[in-house]
Amino acid sequence: MDGSKKFKSLSPTLCRYWTFRHLLSTDGQLLFYTNRLVVPAACCNNILQILHAAYSGTTKMKQVARQVVFWPGMSTQVEAYIAQCQTCQRYQTNNSKETLQLLPLTTRPFQRVSILNCIRLILMLAGNRTHSK
Ligand SMILES: [Zn+2]
Repeated sequence: MDGSKKFKSLSPTLCRYWTFRHLLSTDGQLLFYTNRLVVPAACCNNILQILHAAYSGTTKMKQVARQVVFWPGMSTQVEAYIAQCQTCQRYQTNNSKETLQLLPLTTRPFQRVSILNCIRLILMLAGNRTHSK
């Protein structure tokens, strides 16, 4: 079957990944775009919420997202998410630096783990599984 016939036979969900098909791989359980975890469409909003809780600016949020996760249209969705955030829109013209605030000390191991570290851990574990076969 040639490429255009394969493309036409795909569901609309899979068509979104056609352009990226040569950079996709799997370890049997997780899907990767190069070394980034592919996030299913149903989970994209959750990832945007988590990323935005940690990174408020569009540039930084996209930069962090591009390190660890992927889905088609991710950059556009990051921009749209921030454009719809009332807090960001209210304070976007206020360029004053926020006062650095230290987080309270944790009392037990892994009490506070960033989403970035969680995704990096998943990628590391998946890489180990792939390389140990
Ligand atoms: Zn915001």
